[in-house]
Amino acid sequence: MHKLSIAELSRNLKNKVFSSVEATRHFLERSKKLNPEFNAYITLTEEQALAEAAEADKRLAAGDDNVLCGVPIAHKDIFCTNGVRTSCGSRMLDNFIPPYDATVVANYRAAGAVMLGKTNMDEFAMGSSNETSWYGKVRNPWAPNCVPGGSSGGSAAVVAAMMAPGATATDTGGSIRQPAALCGITGLKPTYGRVSRWGMIAFASSLDQGGVMARSAEDAAILLNAMASYDSKDSTCINEPVPDYTATLHNKLEGLRIGLPEEYFGEGLHPEIQAAVEDAIKILEKRGASIKKISLPHSHLAVPAYYVIAPAECSANLSRFDGVRYGHRCEDPKDLMDLFKRSRGEGFGEEVKRRILVGTYALSAGYYDAYYRKAQQVRRLIKQDFDEAFNDVDVILGPTAPTPAFEFGAKGNDPVAMYLEDIYTIATNLAGLPGMSIPCGLVDNKPVGLQLIGQAWDEARLLNVANEFQHHSDFHTWTPGGLA
Ligand code: GLN
Repeated sequence: MHKLSIAELSRNLKNKVFSSVEATRHFLERSKKLNPEFNAYITLTEEQALAEAAEADKRLAAGDDNVLCGVPIAHKDIFCTNGVRTSCGSRMLDNFIPPYDATVVANYRAAGAVMLGKTNMDEFAMGSSNETSWYGKVRNPWAPNCVPGGSSGGSAAVVAAMMAPGATATDTGGSIRQPAALCGITGLKPTYGRVSRWGMIAFASSLDQGGVMARSAEDAAILLNAMASYDSKDSTCINEPVPDYTATLHNKLEGLRIGLPEEYFGEGLHPEIQAAVEDAIKILEKRGASIKKISLPHSHLAVPAYYVIAPAECSANLSRFDGVRYGHRCEDPKDLMDLFKRSRGEGFGEEVKRRILVGTYALSAGYYDAYYRKAQQVRRLIKQDFDEAFNDVDVILGPTAPTPAFEFGAKGNDPVAMYLEDIYTIATNLAGLPGMSIPCGLVDNKPVGLQLIGQAWDEARLLNVANEFQHHSDFHTWTPGGLA
């Protein structure tokens, strides 16, 4: 049953081949068996899941026609869940039980989806390897001595190991696409503003965006249909109807104009990843797409600009964790200052502290213009590069990550080496554009991701291109060896 897609699970639930309780129990049992090995879930919500499934079965019996009704999924532990611990991968929130659901979680609940549990992640979504989690590292189902990518490494591993057919995730600089690439699954980061950020714990508010992970573009479309909504509680959420992303999945690709940025195929890219991506593009050419070489000349400034803007915003967002209102509080503080200092000192890990320090520095009087304002100006140039490119092409393709999954500790002492993992994904966030990663082969028996970048609000086209690709190739059906 765990090999079934979301679309197939849904059909079987509607046709009463099995019930939601049976499906949910199957994924829970599999998760309980595999999780000790991969550490992909922080929390499994067994009892609640079975209760939700029983509820979904009643809805199904009454003829509920929502495709997700009764389908079990997992949520990244960054989304607040009413009554269920939401840790954000941090000791700071190890004891935090939200009294409300994030809008995204509420949307899935309304659709009748069942929550299996909360997935592991880099602390406060800062990282590219899932090694910064307070709950320990996640193992890549394809190569257990390697990272799953990050920060949504838990969601990616849960989907790759078929502990859930789909999962929610978030992407601030690559955290959906890079782990999707490293774990051989399909991941979509929508346009900034397409999905509500309300109840999604903030890292860098002008970059953060919720999205989906699944094993195919079709399943990603089904998940996005339910996730996206206008939400007056998030002032950056667009007030436009959500299209049916499944309706255009099968559009023909004749006449599609693909742009290949020269900057995404340069130094630092693993040659075999380059070869796999080039072969993948040929599959789309055969479907009638044309290829054009393009340039995004400010690409080399994306990582430096991001590592000013993201830390600056995180230093502001994380100032709320003071040990007073909620979250970790130190023992026996001697005065208020001691309470602040020790609660934050104990609650946050090393990478989070590094970012708070960098961000506070960049925002301080006298440095603001030199760093933060300058980075915002660079961000505008990066956005203009995309605007110009999209005058001539419909989608931009390239690799998702420069290397396949690497071993634990491989970049441990060098934060900059880790930051370069997102060299091809970060510009998309700075420009607010939608991006996707789909599997397109293996290098050293580890998955490789093809990245698709679209114009703002063009998720439907990305899903269409990805779906057509998956109809004419089978990379997305490959599963990790040894995992039946
Ligand atoms: N790896 C990047 C970082 O560490 C992006 C993380 C993310 O997208 N949440 O900030």
